[in-house]
Amino acid sequence: MPRPLIATIDTDALRHNAALLRARAPRSRLMAMVKADAYGHGLEQVVRALAHADAFGVAALSEARRIRDICCTTPVVVMAGPIDADDVAWMRQHAVGAVIHDAGQLALLEQAPDGPPLQCWLKIDTGMHRLGVAPEEVRSVHARLAACAAVHPDVVLMTHFASSDATDLHTRNGAMTLRQLRTFEETVAGLPGVRSLANSAAVLEWPQTHADWIRPGGALYGMSVVESRPGPEYGLRAVMQLDSALLAVKQVRGGERIGYSGLWEAPQDMPVGIVAAGYGDGYPRGMPSGAPVLLNGRPVPLVGRVSMDLLALDLRTQPQAQAGDPVRLWGDGLAVDRVAADAGTIGYALTCAVTARVPKRCVGSDAQGG
Ligand SMILES: *Cc1c(COP(=O)(O)O)cnc(C)c1O
Repeated sequence: MPRPLIATIDTDALRHNAALLRARAPRSRLMAMVKADAYGHGLEQVVRALAHADAFGVAALSEARRIRDICCTTPVVVMAGPIDADDVAWMRQHAVGAVIHDAGQLALLEQAPDGPPLQCWLKIDTGMHRLGVAPEEVRSVHARLAACAAVHPDVVLMTHFASSDATDLHTRNGAMTLRQLRTFEETVAGLPGVRSLANSAAVLEWPQTHADWIRPGGALYGMSVVESRPGPEYGLRAVMQLDSALLAVKQVRGGERIGYSGLWEAPQDMPVGIVAAGYGDGYPRGMPSGAPVLLNGRPVPLVGRVSMDLLALDLRTQPQAQAGDPVRLWGDGLAVDRVAADAGTIGYALTCAVTARVPKRCVGSDAQGG
């Protein structure tokens, strides 16, 4: 019998979320961000389920290759852009677009031989200070792109927000999004081309940033990083359910300690449930005692240190529980954002961290298995 831990990917929920995001930004086209194996949900299944997206966004060329293996028409854009001349050649041949974020990439384009044009997205650093061309260099980089024979004449202008999850305008982070928006508008004023700014949090909370293309990632998967507002509060549906089962139930005496390093001491004689899930599956090792897990659909607290393959639950509120009873680590009823907050991280980091030994099963009206 297989180990009971499984990640279920609900493609109907995925399409529901995509439709909800489109409805929030009705005049914008939607680039579905599917980097990092679609935030850990499985790139191939997600791309098939979102075949009606206007484009797919990935971080790396390797991810664009995987998309082109299954889908040859939807635009794909690589956020890191080309790193060498081979990348440029492959992208042009496969109609994969490139984010140009550094003047150093221009030489690659200017030296490229004749061939199909490369769709370029010029990324402007409006204050995040990660990737992007400084505002004062944008005009010259744009002019060189426009003059480059290898580049498609329609250059998209884009930027990325550092803190769109913060919505209180009285805080430094809350004020940041409007500052970045202003810098962007001043920088691109008068330049031709469509515009793209909004990640998930901006789609949900900053309508003035929607522009021509939205680029949601986390919200497609039902997650939100907007300050203490989990995805379901926006009507988003969890796309991943991480489910397991009790492997064993045992009675421990008051004063006994549970798991590695004996982190948690039983306050009384009590039942403890052992679940098939651990950090070897991607469940955070740092999850503190008391964090909720759903057993038979109802929350019970985790106790002791999460180990590689197992974790323990306090069964005092469900003393009748037995081996085989269903356990949900996150999903409907327990938003991954909530779970992540208990571990001091965000939902994205949890779904991305689900390891290869966890089987993924696709459900939904189009499910093709896998
Ligand atoms: C990852 C990414 C996004 C999507 O961000 P979410 O917060 O997941 O919506 C959008 N744009 C760029 C450039 C990204 O790298």
